[in-house]
Amino acid sequence: MTAQVIDGKAFAARVRTDVAAGVAVLAAQGITPGLAVVLVGEDPASQVYVGAKGKQTVEVGMASFEHRLPGDTPEADLLALISRLNADPKVHGILVQLPLPAHVNADLVINSISPAKDVDGFHISNVGLLGTGQKSMVPCTPLGCLMMLRDHHGSLSGMNAVVVGRSNIVGKPMAQLLLGDSCTVTIGHSRSRDLPALCRTADILVAAVGRPEMITGDWVKPGATVIDVGINRVERDGKTRLVGDVHFESAAAVAGAITPVPGGVGPMTIACLLANTLTACCRAHGLPEPQ
Ligand code: NDP
Repeated sequence: MTAQVIDGKAFAARVRTDVAAGVAVLAAQGITPGLAVVLVGEDPASQVYVGAKGKQTVEVGMASFEHRLPGDTPEADLLALISRLNADPKVHGILVQLPLPAHVNADLVINSISPAKDVDGFHISNVGLLGTGQKSMVPCTPLGCLMMLRDHHGSLSGMNAVVVGRSNIVGKPMAQLLLGDSCTVTIGHSRSRDLPALCRTADILVAAVGRPEMITGDWVKPGATVIDVGINRVERDGKTRLVGDVHFESAAAVAGAITPVPGGVGPMTIACLLANTLTACCRAHGLPEPQ
């Protein structure tokens, strides 16, 4: 292996320490940032994520409000809950865990969250603000990726970035953020022609496809930085293992730097959620935002 492994777990711990310090400053003024997480249904992966979010929210000194609703909760009840959370001054951030059950219109639900409390950054107003380079709530996973890239490279200006995946929650906002940092950005997807050749043009390669170990070392430009967003559960030797969208061993033999799975992008996502909640709280109280 030649690549430097980017330690997202350690980086996330530093981000949480900074967030906790910001929370302590607010506490001295009698303000407690609050994050409400709404989970509908029994999806096992979502249960794990929501549990981890609640635990880390409390650990940094914030208030955590968990709303676990049955899978058959009517859409109208969910909208009514969000309306109450929008009006609750103790709640500064609202996250609705995705995916939602099929009978619920996810776009309608997400767009019913007050944009100021939309700590996932998925509300159409925040999407538009990000796309036009204005102050917004930035989606947590791409934000975590950007922070690791800036930490590793300093300036990203002029670098060729290829993002594989064009989802609204990862691929598209990732591309916007890289463009905002003056990368030359290409977005690949399932209809792209000769994706391996496209990826080999990348100084920065972000994989967000949801296909276990699809991107192998021969897709990677020597010395490139590879950010693996994928979280895939696979059966190996009778055990369930987590692997990314990148084949780690072969890619690490070629890349200059790479994020592992687990321990890369995943921990940064929750850390950025907490950072966004602190930001939302500061904005709500007209206080300076954390840097
Ligand atoms: P989506 O399924 O919404 O999007 C996947 C994207 O990958 C689509 O744009 C799709 O293209 C593209 N794609 C699928 N198959 C191929 C292929 N064979 N070749 C090229 N492109 C392909 O996934 P998400 O964006 O929500 O998530 C992506 C991955 O990131 C998943 O593994 C998910 O678990 C993980 N994830 C991790 C997070 C974290 O905290 N670390 C947070 C969120 C997601 P098309 O549009 O053409 O169909």
